[in-house]
Amino acid sequence: MIPKLKIKKNDTVRVISGRDRGKQGRVTQVFPQQGMVVVEGINIRTRHLRGGKGKQAGSKVQFAAPLKVSKVMVLCQNCNRLARVRSLASADGNKVRSCHRCQQPLVLATS
Ligand SMILES: [Zn+2]
Repeated sequence: MIPKLKIKKNDTVRVISGRDRGKQGRVTQVFPQQGMVVVEGINIRTRHLRGGKGKQAGSKVQFAAPLKVSKVMVLCQNCNRLARVRSLASADGNKVRSCHRCQQPLVLATS
């Protein structure tokens, strides 16, 4: 069974460890099997492409590499602090992800 990640696509997260500590961005991809997420502008890697015969010259391509979900925390839009995600039952009985500090459901930043 694949454990569900508490972080979902389009969440705003902040990196809490590693090279990009302190930076924040929007989650663009999640990989529950690997426990990895891709965050916009975080963990940027450069891939050097070699030019070939008849092709154009070599080039560099920058891309955001996946990082461990344990290295990021959700930023609560409500209390504007880093939040651990709790699962709370809402009024209609569905479970919603919510902030452990303010108990408010996590709202996704609309872009
Ligand atoms: Zn909060």
